[in-house]
Amino acid sequence: MGGTFDPIHHGHLVAASEVQALFGLDEVVFVPTGRPWQKDAREVSAAEHRYLMTVIATASNPRFTVSRVDIDREGPTYTVDTLRDLHAERPDAELFFITGADALAQILSWKDADALWRLAHFVGVTRPGYVLSELGLPADGVTLQEVPAMAISSTDCRERVRDGEPVWYLVPDGVVQYISKYHLYRGAP
Ligand code: ATP
Ligand code: MG
Repeated sequence: MGGTFDPIHHGHLVAASEVQALFGLDEVVFVPTGRPWQKDAREVSAAEHRYLMTVIATASNPRFTVSRVDIDREGPTYTVDTLRDLHAERPDAELFFITGADALAQILSWKDADALWRLAHFVGVTRPGYVLSELGLPADGVTLQEVPAMAISSTDCRERVRDGEPVWYLVPDGVVQYISKYHLYRGAP
């Protein structure tokens, strides 16, 4: 599961858990992005903070792990590199790439998208009621999975912290404490 995870929240975790169960996956590897090419305009928290929050959030689930492949690679993150690195680490594994349906439509519109189909099966998580054709996604190689906790977003969590509002129960307890400890998302002093 790829994401900026700035911060990781229960929407991500519910999505990962739903897809893990639906597809009977052995492992869900959370891959925090390095410099996301889609998010250049916005200031993104240090990769190490995003990585550690992801580790904290996933630590209690024996099927969840976190990979550093994207944050340790130089330059912007492209999904094709992520999948090639994961494939090199686990040559015998069948890979599924889990992400939001919105992000998926963007990724698959990328010019080298053809290479992606050979590397993984794509799972787009979405709010209840969406269909593939409405999202501009092909029916082959993509599965849509409805996720109940879709209303949570990292943007909303950051704005809440900035405005002094609680993020308890939107993100795992350890992540609430991590954000507070390192004064993340407080905005300019
Ligand atoms: P931001 O608000 O900064 O864009 P985000 O909440 O969308 O953050 P990302 O790290 O960008 O979080 O998300 C990683 C992937 O998880 C994206 O593909 C996104 O669409 C998906 N996602 C985000 N929030 C949810 C949610 N509540 N339920 C399911 N999937 C989600
Ligand atoms: Mg997003």
